[in-house]
Amino acid sequence: MAEYDYDLFVIGAGSGGTRASRVAAAYGAKVAVAEEYRIGGTCVIRGCVPKKLLVYGAHFAEDLKDARRFGWNVPECDFDWAVLRDNVLADVDRLNGLYTQTLHNNGVETFIERATVTGPHEVTLASGKTISAKYILIASGAHPHVPDFPGSELGITSNEVFHLDTLPKRVLIAGGGYIANEFAGIFNEFGSHVTMVNRTDVILRGYDHSMRDRLLQISLMKGIDFRFHAEFNSIEQNADGSFKVSLTKHEPFDVDCVVFATGRVPNTKGLGLEEVGVQIDSKGAVQVDADNKSSVDSIYAVGDVTNRVQLTPVAIREGQAFADTIFGGKPHQVDYNCIPSAVFSHPPLAAVGMTESEARNKLGSVAVYTADFRAMKNVLADRNERALYKMVCDGMTGKVVGLHMIGPDAPEIMQAAAVAVKAGLTKDAFDQTVALHPTMSEELVLMK
Ligand code: NDP
Repeated sequence: MAEYDYDLFVIGAGSGGTRASRVAAAYGAKVAVAEEYRIGGTCVIRGCVPKKLLVYGAHFAEDLKDARRFGWNVPECDFDWAVLRDNVLADVDRLNGLYTQTLHNNGVETFIERATVTGPHEVTLASGKTISAKYILIASGAHPHVPDFPGSELGITSNEVFHLDTLPKRVLIAGGGYIANEFAGIFNEFGSHVTMVNRTDVILRGYDHSMRDRLLQISLMKGIDFRFHAEFNSIEQNADGSFKVSLTKHEPFDVDCVVFATGRVPNTKGLGLEEVGVQIDSKGAVQVDADNKSSVDSIYAVGDVTNRVQLTPVAIREGQAFADTIFGGKPHQVDYNCIPSAVFSHPPLAAVGMTESEARNKLGSVAVYTADFRAMKNVLADRNERALYKMVCDGMTGKVVGLHMIGPDAPEIMQAAAVAVKAGLTKDAFDQTVALHPTMSEELVLMK
Protein backbone atom coordinates (compact mmCIF):
# COMPACT_ATOMS: atom_id res chain seq x y z
CA MET A 1 0.00 0.00 0.00
CA ALA A 2 1.25 3.49 -0.85
CA GLU A 3 2.47 5.51 2.10
CA TYR A 4 0.46 8.57 0.98
CA ASP A 5 -2.82 9.12 -0.89
CA TYR A 6 -1.02 11.37 -3.41
CA ASP A 7 2.54 12.18 -4.39
CA LEU A 8 1.57 15.85 -4.67
CA PHE A 9 -1.33 17.86 -3.33
CA VAL A 10 -1.56 21.39 -4.70
CA ILE A 11 -3.59 24.13 -3.03
CA GLY A 12 -4.69 26.62 -5.69
CA ALA A 13 -5.31 26.02 -9.42
CA GLY A 14 -3.99 29.32 -10.73
CA SER A 15 -1.10 29.77 -13.13
CA GLY A 16 1.60 28.33 -10.86
CA GLY A 17 -0.49 25.55 -9.34
CA THR A 18 -1.89 24.36 -12.65
CA ARG A 19 1.53 24.22 -14.29
CA ALA A 20 3.08 22.35 -11.37
CA SER A 21 0.16 19.88 -11.20
CA ARG A 22 0.05 18.96 -14.84
CA VAL A 23 3.83 18.71 -15.27
CA ALA A 24 4.21 16.61 -12.12
CA ALA A 25 1.38 14.34 -13.32
CA ALA A 26 3.01 14.04 -16.75
CA TYR A 27 6.15 12.80 -14.96
CA GLY A 28 4.00 10.04 -13.49
CA ALA A 29 3.17 11.52 -10.10
CA LYS A 30 -0.26 11.00 -8.54
CA VAL A 31 -1.53 14.56 -8.20
CA ALA A 32 -4.59 16.32 -6.80
CA VAL A 33 -5.36 20.02 -6.70
CA ALA A 34 -7.88 21.90 -4.57
CA GLU A 35 -9.34 25.19 -5.79
CA GLU A 36 -11.88 27.10 -3.73
CA TYR A 37 -13.04 29.41 -6.53
CA ARG A 38 -12.50 28.63 -10.22
CA ILE A 39 -9.73 26.73 -12.01
CA GLY A 40 -7.50 29.22 -13.83
CA GLY A 41 -6.82 31.52 -10.90
CA THR A 42 -6.47 35.29 -10.84
CA CYS A 43 -4.81 35.69 -14.25
CA VAL A 44 -7.44 33.80 -16.19
CA ILE A 45 -10.56 34.43 -14.13
CA ARG A 46 -10.21 37.99 -12.82
CA GLY A 47 -6.88 39.42 -13.85
CA CYS A 48 -4.59 39.57 -16.88
CA VAL A 49 -6.90 37.90 -19.41
CA PRO A 50 -10.25 39.68 -18.86
CA LYS A 51 -8.34 42.91 -18.16
CA LYS A 52 -6.52 42.71 -21.51
CA LEU A 53 -9.84 42.10 -23.28
CA LEU A 54 -11.20 45.26 -21.64
CA VAL A 55 -8.07 47.13 -22.74
CA TYR A 56 -8.73 46.04 -26.33
CA GLY A 57 -12.36 47.07 -25.97
CA ALA A 58 -11.42 50.44 -24.55
CA HIS A 59 -8.92 51.16 -27.31
CA PHE A 60 -11.68 51.21 -29.91
CA ALA A 61 -12.70 54.60 -28.49
CA GLU A 62 -9.45 56.06 -29.89
CA ASP A 63 -9.41 53.93 -33.01
CA LEU A 64 -12.93 54.99 -33.98
CA LYS A 65 -12.01 58.63 -33.50
CA ASP A 66 -8.72 58.30 -35.39
CA ALA A 67 -10.38 56.37 -38.23
CA ARG A 68 -12.09 59.57 -39.40
CA ARG A 69 -8.68 61.12 -40.08
CA PHE A 70 -7.90 58.05 -42.20
CA GLY A 71 -10.94 58.66 -44.34
CA TRP A 72 -13.49 56.43 -42.67
CA ASN A 73 -16.99 57.73 -42.29
CA VAL A 74 -17.61 56.73 -38.71
CA PRO A 75 -21.06 57.56 -37.41
CA GLU A 76 -21.46 58.65 -33.78
CA CYS A 77 -20.84 55.45 -31.86
CA ASP A 78 -21.81 54.58 -28.34
CA PHE A 79 -20.51 51.91 -26.07
CA ASP A 80 -22.51 49.11 -24.49
CA TRP A 81 -20.72 47.91 -21.36
CA ALA A 82 -23.06 44.94 -20.86
CA VAL A 83 -22.15 43.50 -24.28
CA LEU A 84 -18.41 43.69 -23.68
CA ARG A 85 -18.71 42.48 -20.06
CA ASP A 86 -20.78 39.44 -21.03
CA ASN A 87 -18.54 38.54 -23.97
CA VAL A 88 -15.46 38.82 -21.76
CA LEU A 89 -17.05 36.71 -19.03
CA ALA A 90 -18.04 34.11 -21.64
CA ASP A 91 -14.41 33.93 -22.75
CA VAL A 92 -13.35 33.50 -19.14
CA ASP A 93 -15.80 30.56 -18.92
CA ARG A 94 -14.24 29.08 -22.06
CA LEU A 95 -10.74 29.34 -20.60
CA ASN A 96 -11.90 27.98 -17.27
CA GLY A 97 -13.19 24.94 -19.18
CA LEU A 98 -9.91 24.54 -21.06
CA TYR A 99 -7.83 24.73 -17.88
CA THR A 100 -10.08 22.17 -16.18
CA GLN A 101 -9.82 19.91 -19.21
CA THR A 102 -6.01 20.18 -19.25
CA LEU A 103 -5.81 19.05 -15.65
CA HIS A 104 -8.14 16.14 -16.27
CA ASN A 105 -6.33 15.15 -19.47
CA ASN A 106 -3.15 14.92 -17.46
CA GLY A 107 -4.80 12.77 -14.83
CA VAL A 108 -4.84 15.43 -12.11
CA GLU A 109 -7.74 15.02 -9.69
CA THR A 110 -9.52 18.28 -8.80
CA PHE A 111 -11.44 19.26 -5.69
CA ILE A 112 -13.46 22.45 -6.07
CA GLU A 113 -13.36 23.36 -2.40
CA ARG A 114 -11.06 24.98 0.09
CA ALA A 115 -8.19 22.93 1.49
CA THR A 116 -6.15 23.71 4.58
CA VAL A 117 -2.88 22.26 5.72
CA THR A 118 -3.28 20.10 8.82
CA GLY A 119 0.11 18.40 8.90
CA PRO A 120 3.43 18.34 7.05
CA HIS A 121 1.91 15.67 4.80
CA GLU A 122 -1.80 16.27 5.35
CA VAL A 123 -4.51 18.56 4.03
CA THR A 124 -8.14 18.74 5.07
CA LEU A 125 -10.84 19.68 2.60
CA ALA A 126 -13.79 21.93 3.50
CA SER A 127 -15.98 18.81 3.31
CA GLY A 128 -13.99 17.37 6.22
CA LYS A 129 -12.07 14.75 4.20
CA THR A 130 -8.39 14.45 5.10
CA ILE A 131 -5.84 13.56 2.45
CA SER A 132 -2.18 12.67 2.79
CA ALA A 133 0.51 13.64 0.29
CA LYS A 134 4.26 13.23 0.05
CA TYR A 135 4.56 16.86 -1.01
CA ILE A 136 2.20 19.79 -0.58
CA LEU A 137 2.48 22.78 -2.89
CA ILE A 138 0.95 26.09 -1.77
CA ALA A 139 -0.11 28.05 -4.85
CA SER A 140 -3.00 29.94 -3.31
CA GLY A 141 -2.18 33.31 -4.87
CA ALA A 142 -3.06 36.69 -3.42
CA HIS A 143 -6.10 38.91 -2.93
CA PRO A 144 -6.64 42.66 -3.22
CA HIS A 145 -5.67 44.76 -0.23
CA VAL A 146 -8.34 47.23 0.89
CA PRO A 147 -7.21 49.98 3.27
CA ASP A 148 -9.09 50.07 6.57
CA PHE A 149 -11.11 53.28 7.13
CA PRO A 150 -14.79 54.15 7.66
CA GLY A 151 -16.78 53.18 4.57
CA SER A 152 -13.99 51.28 2.80
CA GLU A 153 -16.41 48.35 2.45
CA LEU A 154 -18.43 50.49 0.00
CA GLY A 155 -15.65 50.19 -2.57
CA ILE A 156 -14.91 47.29 -4.91
CA THR A 157 -11.67 45.72 -6.13
CA SER A 158 -10.39 44.15 -9.32
CA ASN A 159 -12.33 41.03 -8.27
CA GLU A 160 -15.68 42.74 -8.76
CA VAL A 161 -14.86 45.25 -11.48
CA PHE A 162 -15.40 42.75 -14.30
CA HIS A 163 -18.98 42.16 -13.13
CA LEU A 164 -20.26 45.75 -12.79
CA ASP A 165 -23.97 46.05 -13.71
CA THR A 166 -23.47 49.43 -15.32
CA LEU A 167 -20.56 51.60 -16.29
CA PRO A 168 -20.02 54.22 -13.56
CA LYS A 169 -20.15 57.81 -14.78
CA ARG A 170 -17.61 58.88 -12.17
CA VAL A 171 -15.08 56.40 -10.86
CA LEU A 172 -12.42 56.82 -8.20
CA ILE A 173 -9.45 54.52 -8.47
CA ALA A 174 -7.33 54.21 -5.33
CA GLY A 175 -3.64 53.43 -5.85
CA GLY A 176 -1.07 54.30 -8.45
CA GLY A 177 0.23 50.89 -9.47
CA TYR A 178 -0.43 48.43 -12.27
CA ILE A 179 -4.13 47.84 -11.70
CA ALA A 180 -4.91 51.49 -10.97
CA ASN A 181 -3.29 52.76 -14.16
CA GLU A 182 -4.72 50.00 -16.31
CA PHE A 183 -8.29 50.55 -15.10
CA ALA A 184 -7.92 54.33 -15.20
CA GLY A 185 -7.18 53.99 -18.92
CA ILE A 186 -10.01 51.50 -19.48
CA PHE A 187 -12.70 53.56 -17.72
CA ASN A 188 -11.50 56.81 -19.23
CA GLU A 189 -11.72 55.40 -22.77
CA PHE A 190 -15.23 54.08 -22.04
CA GLY A 191 -16.22 57.64 -21.14
CA SER A 192 -16.26 57.52 -17.34
CA HIS A 193 -14.74 60.43 -15.46
CA VAL A 194 -11.73 58.97 -13.64
CA THR A 195 -10.07 60.31 -10.51
CA MET A 196 -6.96 58.51 -9.29
CA VAL A 197 -6.14 58.85 -5.61
CA ASN A 198 -2.65 58.07 -4.44
CA ARG A 199 -0.92 58.36 -1.08
CA THR A 200 2.23 59.81 -2.66
CA ASP A 201 2.82 61.66 -5.93
CA VAL A 202 4.59 58.67 -7.48
CA ILE A 203 2.72 56.37 -9.82
CA LEU A 204 4.16 53.02 -10.86
CA ARG A 205 6.96 53.02 -8.35
CA GLY A 206 9.69 50.76 -9.68
CA TYR A 207 9.39 51.92 -13.28
CA ASP A 208 11.80 54.42 -14.83
CA HIS A 209 10.98 58.03 -13.86
CA SER A 210 10.83 59.21 -17.49
CA MET A 211 8.19 56.59 -18.35
CA ARG A 212 6.14 57.45 -15.26
CA ASP A 213 6.30 61.16 -16.06
CA ARG A 214 5.22 60.54 -19.65
CA LEU A 215 2.28 58.38 -18.60
CA LEU A 216 1.19 60.98 -16.05
CA GLN A 217 1.41 63.74 -18.64
CA ILE A 218 -0.60 61.77 -21.23
CA SER A 219 -3.16 60.64 -18.63
CA LEU A 220 -3.73 64.27 -17.58
CA MET A 221 -4.06 65.26 -21.23
CA LYS A 222 -6.69 62.55 -21.71
CA GLY A 223 -8.72 64.01 -18.83
CA ILE A 224 -7.85 61.71 -15.94
CA ASP A 225 -7.77 63.60 -12.63
CA PHE A 226 -5.23 62.92 -9.92
CA ARG A 227 -5.36 63.52 -6.17
CA PHE A 228 -1.85 63.08 -4.81
CA HIS A 229 -0.66 62.85 -1.20
CA ALA A 230 -4.18 61.80 -0.31
CA GLU A 231 -5.26 59.34 2.38
CA PHE A 232 -8.88 58.28 2.82
CA ASN A 233 -10.86 59.73 5.71
CA SER A 234 -14.17 58.13 4.81
CA ILE A 235 -16.63 57.05 2.13
CA GLU A 236 -20.36 57.60 2.74
CA GLN A 237 -23.27 56.59 0.56
CA ASN A 238 -25.48 59.43 -0.68
CA ALA A 239 -29.26 59.16 -0.98
CA ASP A 240 -28.99 58.68 -4.76
CA GLY A 241 -26.67 55.70 -4.34
CA SER A 242 -23.47 57.59 -5.21
CA PHE A 243 -20.61 57.99 -2.74
CA LYS A 244 -19.13 61.01 -0.97
CA VAL A 245 -15.41 60.58 -0.62
CA SER A 246 -13.45 62.47 1.99
CA LEU A 247 -9.66 62.59 1.62
CA THR A 248 -6.93 64.27 3.62
CA LYS A 249 -5.69 67.57 2.09
CA HIS A 250 -8.44 67.62 -0.59
CA GLU A 251 -12.05 68.78 -0.90
CA PRO A 252 -14.66 65.98 -0.62
CA PHE A 253 -16.25 64.87 -3.89
CA ASP A 254 -18.92 62.50 -5.20
CA VAL A 255 -18.34 59.42 -7.35
CA ASP A 256 -20.45 56.47 -8.50
CA CYS A 257 -17.87 53.79 -7.87
CA VAL A 258 -14.68 53.38 -5.85
CA VAL A 259 -12.15 50.79 -6.99
CA PHE A 260 -9.30 49.86 -4.66
CA ALA A 261 -6.11 48.93 -6.48
CA THR A 262 -3.81 49.23 -3.52
CA GLY A 263 -1.68 46.13 -3.79
CA ARG A 264 -2.29 42.44 -3.26
CA VAL A 265 -1.84 40.32 -0.12
CA PRO A 266 -0.70 36.66 -0.18
CA ASN A 267 -3.48 34.16 0.57
CA THR A 268 -2.12 32.42 3.65
CA LYS A 269 -4.65 33.41 6.30
CA GLY A 270 -6.39 30.42 7.82
CA LEU A 271 -4.46 27.93 5.66
CA GLY A 272 -2.92 26.29 8.74
CA LEU A 273 0.62 26.92 7.54
CA GLU A 274 2.11 28.47 10.66
CA GLU A 275 0.57 25.74 12.79
CA VAL A 276 2.66 23.12 10.97
CA GLY A 277 5.83 25.25 11.11
CA VAL A 278 5.82 27.04 7.74
CA GLN A 279 7.44 30.43 8.09
CA ILE A 280 5.32 33.36 6.94
CA ASP A 281 6.70 36.91 6.67
CA SER A 282 5.10 40.11 8.01
CA LYS A 283 3.15 40.55 4.74
CA GLY A 284 1.71 37.04 4.98
CA ALA A 285 3.96 35.55 2.28
CA VAL A 286 5.29 32.00 2.49
CA GLN A 287 9.06 32.15 2.92
CA VAL A 288 10.77 29.86 0.43
CA ASP A 289 14.29 29.13 -0.73
CA ALA A 290 15.53 29.21 -4.33
CA ASP A 291 13.97 25.76 -4.84
CA ASN A 292 10.55 27.03 -3.68
CA LYS A 293 10.86 25.00 -0.48
CA SER A 294 9.35 26.39 2.72
CA SER A 295 10.74 25.88 6.23
CA VAL A 296 8.95 22.50 6.26
CA ASP A 297 10.71 19.98 4.00
CA SER A 298 7.54 18.54 2.44
CA ILE A 299 5.82 21.89 1.81
CA TYR A 300 6.67 24.10 -1.17
CA ALA A 301 5.13 27.32 -2.50
CA VAL A 302 5.07 29.12 -5.86
CA GLY A 303 3.51 32.25 -7.30
CA ASP A 304 1.95 35.29 -5.66
CA VAL A 305 1.63 33.57 -2.29
CA THR A 306 5.42 33.89 -1.98
CA ASN A 307 5.32 37.61 -2.86
CA ARG A 308 8.52 37.47 -4.89
CA VAL A 309 7.53 38.77 -8.33
CA GLN A 310 3.72 38.90 -8.66
CA LEU A 311 3.57 38.09 -12.37
CA THR A 312 1.88 35.15 -14.10
CA PRO A 313 4.82 34.02 -16.25
CA VAL A 314 7.01 33.97 -13.13
CA ALA A 315 4.50 31.81 -11.24
CA ILE A 316 4.40 29.47 -14.24
CA ARG A 317 8.19 29.18 -14.28
CA GLU A 318 8.24 28.54 -10.55
CA GLY A 319 5.60 25.81 -10.93
CA GLN A 320 7.57 24.26 -13.80
CA ALA A 321 10.88 24.41 -11.88
CA PHE A 322 9.24 22.80 -8.85
CA ALA A 323 7.78 19.92 -10.89
CA ASP A 324 10.98 19.39 -12.94
CA THR A 325 13.10 19.38 -9.81
CA ILE A 326 10.96 17.18 -7.56
CA PHE A 327 9.32 14.82 -10.04
CA GLY A 328 11.24 15.10 -13.31
CA GLY A 329 14.82 14.56 -12.19
CA LYS A 330 15.75 17.84 -13.91
CA PRO A 331 16.57 20.18 -11.05
CA HIS A 332 16.77 23.87 -11.89
CA GLN A 333 15.94 27.23 -10.37
CA VAL A 334 14.10 30.23 -11.76
CA ASP A 335 16.31 33.03 -13.01
CA TYR A 336 14.79 36.29 -11.78
CA ASN A 337 17.21 38.50 -13.67
CA CYS A 338 15.85 40.67 -16.48
CA ILE A 339 12.14 39.85 -16.20
CA PRO A 340 10.25 42.00 -18.71
CA SER A 341 7.04 43.58 -17.48
CA ALA A 342 4.33 45.80 -18.89
CA VAL A 343 1.51 48.03 -17.75
CA PHE A 344 -1.47 47.96 -20.10
CA SER A 345 -2.29 51.59 -19.54
CA HIS A 346 -3.34 53.96 -22.35
CA PRO A 347 -0.74 54.10 -23.85
CA PRO A 348 0.96 51.00 -22.49
CA LEU A 349 4.45 50.95 -21.05
CA ALA A 350 6.98 48.15 -20.80
CA ALA A 351 10.38 47.62 -19.26
CA VAL A 352 13.18 45.17 -18.76
CA GLY A 353 16.27 45.47 -16.58
CA MET A 354 17.40 48.42 -14.50
CA THR A 355 15.86 51.88 -14.45
CA GLU A 356 18.21 54.77 -15.08
CA SER A 357 18.47 55.59 -11.38
CA GLU A 358 19.03 51.95 -10.38
CA ALA A 359 21.82 51.71 -12.96
CA ARG A 360 23.43 54.96 -11.76
CA ASN A 361 23.35 53.72 -8.16
CA LYS A 362 24.67 50.30 -9.04
CA LEU A 363 27.11 50.94 -11.87
CA GLY A 364 28.15 54.57 -11.44
CA SER A 365 29.10 55.07 -15.06
CA VAL A 366 26.02 54.88 -17.23
CA ALA A 367 25.15 55.93 -20.78
CA VAL A 368 21.54 56.73 -21.57
CA TYR A 369 19.99 56.92 -25.06
CA THR A 370 16.46 57.98 -25.84
CA ALA A 371 14.01 58.26 -28.70
CA ASP A 372 11.16 60.70 -28.11
CA PHE A 373 8.81 60.58 -31.08
CA ARG A 374 5.24 60.73 -32.28
CA ALA A 375 4.17 57.44 -33.82
CA MET A 376 3.35 57.89 -37.52
CA LYS A 377 -0.21 56.80 -36.93
CA ASN A 378 -0.63 59.42 -34.21
CA VAL A 379 0.69 62.15 -36.50
CA LEU A 380 -1.93 61.55 -39.18
CA ALA A 381 -4.59 61.06 -36.52
CA ASP A 382 -3.58 64.44 -35.11
CA ARG A 383 -3.13 62.77 -31.76
CA ASN A 384 -0.66 64.74 -29.73
CA GLU A 385 0.78 61.78 -27.88
CA ARG A 386 4.50 61.11 -27.93
CA ALA A 387 6.18 57.76 -27.39
CA LEU A 388 9.38 57.54 -25.39
CA TYR A 389 12.02 54.82 -25.48
CA LYS A 390 15.02 54.79 -23.18
CA MET A 391 18.04 52.53 -23.30
CA VAL A 392 20.28 52.39 -20.23
CA CYS A 393 23.80 51.07 -20.84
CA ASP A 394 26.76 50.22 -18.69
CA GLY A 395 29.11 53.17 -19.33
CA MET A 396 32.18 50.92 -19.32
CA THR A 397 31.06 48.03 -21.52
CA GLY A 398 28.17 49.44 -23.55
CA LYS A 399 26.02 46.51 -22.42
CA VAL A 400 22.32 47.32 -22.37
CA VAL A 401 21.23 46.95 -18.74
CA GLY A 402 17.77 48.45 -19.04
CA LEU A 403 15.21 49.17 -21.71
CA HIS A 404 12.07 51.21 -21.13
CA MET A 405 9.25 52.13 -23.49
CA ILE A 406 5.95 53.90 -23.43
CA GLY A 407 3.90 54.14 -26.59
CA PRO A 408 1.63 52.09 -28.84
CA ASP A 409 2.35 48.36 -28.68
CA ALA A 410 5.28 48.86 -26.30
CA PRO A 411 4.67 45.47 -24.57
CA GLU A 412 4.58 43.65 -27.92
CA ILE A 413 7.88 45.22 -28.94
CA MET A 414 9.45 44.69 -25.54
CA GLN A 415 9.07 40.92 -25.55
CA ALA A 416 11.43 40.66 -28.54
CA ALA A 417 13.81 43.36 -27.34
CA ALA A 418 14.01 41.72 -23.90
CA VAL A 419 15.68 38.71 -25.53
CA ALA A 420 18.56 40.97 -26.58
CA VAL A 421 18.82 42.58 -23.16
CA LYS A 422 18.68 39.22 -21.39
CA ALA A 423 21.38 37.93 -23.77
CA GLY A 424 23.62 40.79 -22.63
CA LEU A 425 23.90 42.56 -25.98
CA THR A 426 25.46 46.00 -26.30
CA LYS A 427 24.16 49.24 -27.77
CA ASP A 428 26.49 48.54 -30.74
CA ALA A 429 24.72 45.25 -31.42
CA PHE A 430 21.42 47.09 -31.57
CA ASP A 431 22.92 49.74 -33.86
CA GLN A 432 24.40 47.12 -36.20
CA THR A 433 20.90 45.80 -36.85
CA VAL A 434 19.31 47.47 -39.87
CA ALA A 435 16.16 49.38 -39.07
CA LEU A 436 12.85 47.88 -40.13
CA HIS A 437 11.16 50.84 -41.72
CA PRO A 438 8.64 52.28 -41.14
CA THR A 439 7.90 50.94 -37.68
CA MET A 440 7.98 52.32 -34.17
CA SER A 441 10.39 49.62 -33.05
CA GLU A 442 13.05 50.82 -35.51
CA GLU A 443 13.68 53.53 -32.92
CA LEU A 444 15.38 50.81 -30.87
CA VAL A 445 18.27 50.65 -33.33
CA LEU A 446 18.42 54.40 -33.96
CA MET A 447 18.65 55.76 -30.42
CA LYS A 448 20.78 58.81 -29.76
P1 NDP B 1 0.93 47.73 -7.13
O1 NDP B 1 1.89 47.22 -6.14
O2 NDP B 1 1.31 47.82 -8.55
O3 NDP B 1 0.44 49.16 -6.69
C1 NDP B 1 -0.17 49.38 -5.46
C2 NDP B 1 -0.48 50.84 -5.33
O4 NDP B 1 -1.26 51.05 -4.18
C3 NDP B 1 0.76 51.70 -5.18
O5 NDP B 1 0.52 52.93 -5.80
C4 NDP B 1 0.86 51.85 -3.67
O6 NDP B 1 1.47 53.04 -3.29
C5 NDP B 1 -0.59 51.92 -3.28
N1 NDP B 1 -0.84 51.43 -1.93
C6 NDP B 1 -0.37 50.31 -1.36
N2 NDP B 1 -0.83 50.18 -0.10
C7 NDP B 1 -1.62 51.26 0.12
C8 NDP B 1 -2.37 51.70 1.23
N3 NDP B 1 -2.40 51.01 2.38
N4 NDP B 1 -3.06 52.86 1.10
C9 NDP B 1 -3.02 53.56 -0.05
N5 NDP B 1 -2.31 53.19 -1.13
C10 NDP B 1 -1.63 52.04 -1.04
O7 NDP B 1 -0.37 46.82 -6.90
P2 NDP B 1 -1.66 46.54 -7.77
O8 NDP B 1 -2.74 46.31 -6.78
O9 NDP B 1 -1.86 47.55 -8.82
O10 NDP B 1 -1.29 45.16 -8.45
C11 NDP B 1 -0.84 44.07 -7.67
C12 NDP B 1 0.22 43.29 -8.37
O11 NDP B 1 -0.36 42.53 -9.40
C13 NDP B 1 1.28 44.16 -9.05
O12 NDP B 1 2.32 44.49 -8.20
C14 NDP B 1 1.73 43.29 -10.19
O13 NDP B 1 2.79 42.51 -9.76
C15 NDP B 1 0.51 42.45 -10.50
N6 NDP B 1 -0.15 42.98 -11.72
C16 NDP B 1 0.52 42.93 -12.90
C17 NDP B 1 -0.06 43.42 -14.05
C18 NDP B 1 0.71 43.38 -15.33
O14 NDP B 1 1.66 42.62 -15.42
N7 NDP B 1 0.36 44.18 -16.32
C19 NDP B 1 -1.40 43.98 -14.05
C20 NDP B 1 -2.00 44.02 -12.75
C21 NDP B 1 -1.39 43.52 -11.64
P3 NDP B 1 3.06 53.12 -3.04
O15 NDP B 1 3.69 53.22 -4.38
O16 NDP B 1 3.19 54.35 -2.19
O17 NDP B 1 3.41 51.86 -2.29
